[in-house]
Amino acid sequence: MFLYIPGAPAWFVFPPCCLENPFVKIKIVGSAAGGGFPQWNCACRNCSGLRAGTLHAKPRSQTQIAFSPDNGIWFLIGASPDLRAQILSAPELAPKPDAPGHTPIGGVFLPSADVDAVMGLLHLREFQRFFVFATPAVQCALKTENRLFKVLGRGDSPVQWQVLSNNGRLGCHLSETPGESPTFVCNTIPLGGSFPDFVSEEFLRAASPEDATLGFLFEQDGKKLFIAGSLSGENSEWQKLAASADITLIDGTFWSNDELARTGRTHRTAREIGHLPLAGAGGLLAQFPANATGRKILIHINNTNPILDEDSPEHRAVLDAGFEIAYDGLDISL
Ligand SMILES: [Zn+2]
Repeated sequence: MFLYIPGAPAWFVFPPCCLENPFVKIKIVGSAAGGGFPQWNCACRNCSGLRAGTLHAKPRSQTQIAFSPDNGIWFLIGASPDLRAQILSAPELAPKPDAPGHTPIGGVFLPSADVDAVMGLLHLREFQRFFVFATPAVQCALKTENRLFKVLGRGDSPVQWQVLSNNGRLGCHLSETPGESPTFVCNTIPLGGSFPDFVSEEFLRAASPEDATLGFLFEQDGKKLFIAGSLSGENSEWQKLAASADITLIDGTFWSNDELARTGRTHRTAREIGHLPLAGAGGLLAQFPANATGRKILIHINNTNPILDEDSPEHRAVLDAGFEIAYDGLDISL
């Protein structure tokens, strides 16, 4: 079985896929925002309660989504700082003993250059070839602004960096021969937000702001999976995709705009750091399209968010609004 990406060399992938019966599997291997839950330096009500065993809540690792178009090859959405442990926790992502040198992980779609979305690439550095799909600016942030990621290029068959448009369609083909129709299509939209703090002024002058944070709509056999793990709310393009998707995985970082400021560690609001809060007049719960009929699942949940407390009124409110709350180990079929 080969993986064909337009403009890239064909690449043999293992294991053999089961395309006679194609279906999409989605695995939530991490569901928390940066820092995880509990966070090492946080003593908020949630983190303290979880440590003490007095909070009705599940611990969570940092957000990591994996999907498979055929239950054989897997693609990662972002590369979390917890990626090594997350891969070890998911048998589907393990290399098969009868195929030495191959991994089921075929590629990584990067939504941004945020540390939480890219640090896991360093866990994948063991001389392995795979695709990294990212906008030109995100690639520049990782390859030019920062030398650490050059470690991905040291294999005999190095990582293949593929350009993602911030508003386009990329067909990914899994087949024995080129020329067949794509197995799945990755559509991208800009979600607003900003580049991470580690980039230079020079970079910011040259980079397209629309390259900073992407939403992904994966389409296969008429089914649609929409992923917007970091939603600034600066534009409303995401609403059309959320309305049409069979499954939406969407930003559940903060309940309220001032939630992080109340920890005392920062004065910045949820909106200032690029996350539309769930509650309030302009919040996600109010803005989510009322005509959407698919499953809507909150992901990237910050440790301060009261929805993590399963006995809280906020937890009940999101369930009553028809949302699910992602947790580590959640398996979804599309
Ligand atoms: Zn906390």
